[in-house]
Amino acid sequence: MQVNWSYLSKLSQTIPFQAVYNAEMPKRLALLIAFAAIVTAALYLFINYRRGSARTLQTFAFLRDPASRPDLRMINGTQCDSAPFIFPTDGLVGFIWDDSFRPGHRHQGIDIFAGTDVGVTPVVAAYPGYLSRELGWKSSVIIRVPNDPLQAGRQIWVYYTHMANPQGNSFISPDFPAGTSEVYVEAGTLLGYQGNYSGDPNNPVGVHLHVSVVKDDGFGRFTNELEIENTYDPSPYFGLPLNAYENTDTIPMCE
Ligand SMILES: [Zn+2]
Repeated sequence: MQVNWSYLSKLSQTIPFQAVYNAEMPKRLALLIAFAAIVTAALYLFINYRRGSARTLQTFAFLRDPASRPDLRMINGTQCDSAPFIFPTDGLVGFIWDDSFRPGHRHQGIDIFAGTDVGVTPVVAAYPGYLSRELGWKSSVIIRVPNDPLQAGRQIWVYYTHMANPQGNSFISPDFPAGTSEVYVEAGTLLGYQGNYSGDPNNPVGVHLHVSVVKDDGFGRFTNELEIENTYDPSPYFGLPLNAYENTDTIPMCE
């Protein structure tokens, strides 16, 4: 094949390919990347903040005037249908499993708001098991359930927290002092009272109980409850719609 060198050299002069590539393409590419990043961020925020936003508005309305919505409160001891757990306190379920409070955050349990002052609203065991309270625990207890009622042979743990005032004065029952280990309790046993302890006296949380169903590490110990991967969706345990992806906007009630 004959190569027409003069044609090729003319072509390279008429189309300044290098110049177009260097100046225009990266600019367009950068714009495209920036656009894609904005769309991704917007989608992320939309998904995270949309999930549960209607429920959050109802929760705040309830907390401003708890007497206004008695129909949204669940009652201590209630058992929904044939669910294995009883409801462990009085109040409105304001935040549920896998709700997000900020980008990247995933709530590992459920938050039940009494709408009362601290130290007033009782908290009881949702299911029988063996209660422990570690030495440093001011507001928390954990109950080992050797035989998961939903999966025979599996051990799970049920964690209850925020049972103290902002300064860390405990509202846990004197039956379970810090250092308590493996004390058997029946469902309905008084564990303590709802509080607002957050660990920071200047920033207490709203008065509520946080409950979560925690995975075992396979060696008879509970895993780190702060990671959602270490918890189970509590919905089937309580017989309530407690999964934020399945229940995006209602306050959970027995069906
Ligand atoms: Zn919580």
